[in-house]
Amino acid sequence: MEGFVTVVGAGLAGSECALQLARRGVCVRLVEQRPERRSPAHHTDGFAELVCSNSLKSTRPETAAGLLKHELDRMGCELLPIARAAAVPAGGALAVDREAFSREVTRRVEAHPLIEVVRAEATSIPEGPSVIAAGPLCSDALFAAVAKAVGGESMSFFDAAAPIVDAESVDRSVAFAQSRYEEGRGGDYLNCPLDRAEYDAFMEALLGAERVIARDFEQADLFCACQPVEEVARTGHDSLRFGALKPVGLTDPRTGRRPWAAVQLRAETADAAAYNLVGFQTNLTWPEQRRVFRMIPGLAEAEFLRYGVMHRNSFVDAPRALDATFKIPGTSARLAGQITGTEGYVEAVASGLLAALNTYAELIEAPTVALPRTGALGSLVAWATDPATTDYQPMHVNYGIVPPLENPPRRKAEKRAALAERARRDLDAYLAGRPELFPAPRA
Ligand SMILES: Cc1cc2nc3c(=O)[nH]c(=O)nc-3n(C[C@H](O)[C@H](O)[C@H](O)COP(=O)(O)OP(=O)(O)OC[C@H]3O[C@@H](n4cnc5c(N)ncnc54)[C@H](O)[C@@H]3O)c2cc1C
Repeated sequence: MEGFVTVVGAGLAGSECALQLARRGVCVRLVEQRPERRSPAHHTDGFAELVCSNSLKSTRPETAAGLLKHELDRMGCELLPIARAAAVPAGGALAVDREAFSREVTRRVEAHPLIEVVRAEATSIPEGPSVIAAGPLCSDALFAAVAKAVGGESMSFFDAAAPIVDAESVDRSVAFAQSRYEEGRGGDYLNCPLDRAEYDAFMEALLGAERVIARDFEQADLFCACQPVEEVARTGHDSLRFGALKPVGLTDPRTGRRPWAAVQLRAETADAAAYNLVGFQTNLTWPEQRRVFRMIPGLAEAEFLRYGVMHRNSFVDAPRALDATFKIPGTSARLAGQITGTEGYVEAVASGLLAALNTYAELIEAPTVALPRTGALGSLVAWATDPATTDYQPMHVNYGIVPPLENPPRRKAEKRAALAERARRDLDAYLAGRPELFPAPRA
């Protein structure tokens, strides 16, 4: 095939997009700014780095996250099988050893004969067909160029990442291994139980702790799904006990009873050498994280391998700024990943895959992709590109944006199963009519 496509950003969306184009015989120039320039959330020079949690969410087929994974598999996703090969135990979720995952994605991309990797910052929209997948922490110069091209319709919000502790520093005489509702069967999580007095003291310390951005953050447009733990705590004394620290389904083997509250730790690496504090995205200063989080029973001697951080994230007002394929009207540039305002690791991968399919469709002069609205990805795309969507804010896949069933079952579980089944059927039918988008892999 003549020419090449420039993909900016070797994150989740850009890596998937580059691999998808290359397997269709398209030459790709993949421009990645690291190591020359690194966002505050990226810590490595590897591709597809997971910047916060290591969870790719539920694998249960009836959930929206599980359905999205099915859809990606059905469309030949490149990164999902790599994630599965790098999985760490996480109950009904797909969580990965982030280093193993990133290492393999980097290897595959760098080894592909049709992908040229350029390690440099892109400061303008590339000439010719391109996919800009520079993420929510896109460099300032490029984001300014994108904002200008879309007519200034850009926005931002605050986001936060959770700390990671060294497994050996967790006191196992206090923290116990258990997945919720699975007492006696070992378990994928380490749980740090708090009694009432410990919870009260922890809450007091958390609320009084020094934050990196205080006043600004209070007025900030917070993204609810990733709120800092101290912000959640500020909404009520019991809010954490009914949220990230909920003790339901857990039994402390030392007491034989459910604790008053529990902090869950999830393995970061396949060898469980490091754990993250689930739901503990935070904006506390690093010394305060050390002081306050060490009050959690079992973490008194915790060694922090990485502290939690908070960042401003940027995205464009896609419903007004982009066409139905996330293309900037009047240009040959398409956006992919979280810069479009869709949110989530797997959503970013999906968006990269879709950008590749649409770019490829244009190259072979085929119609662009219009996924069924009943699907996890199709409904997200429809929501993100429909000019009727107002007050556009980052969104994960979810059943709230899927058209309702004609005769929905009364029970929630059955309703979800029926929604997933309808989505799978509709996607199969759509893909059966688009064989030209899925030629046998090349090179
Ligand atoms: C702090 C934080 C925490 C998050 N936590 C979670 C979470 O726990 N779970 C979840 O599902 N989602 C989370 N997200 C949201 C989202 O899923 C991730 O940001 C995801 O990585 C987005 O994928 P992406 O491919 O769009 O961007 P990224 O993965 O960020 O990739 C963008 C790439 O572009 C490169 N780049 C940027 N500018 C340029 C330039 N000008 N030139 C060349 N290269 C450039 C970057 O170096 C990077 O490699 C979080 C986001 C942030 C910022």
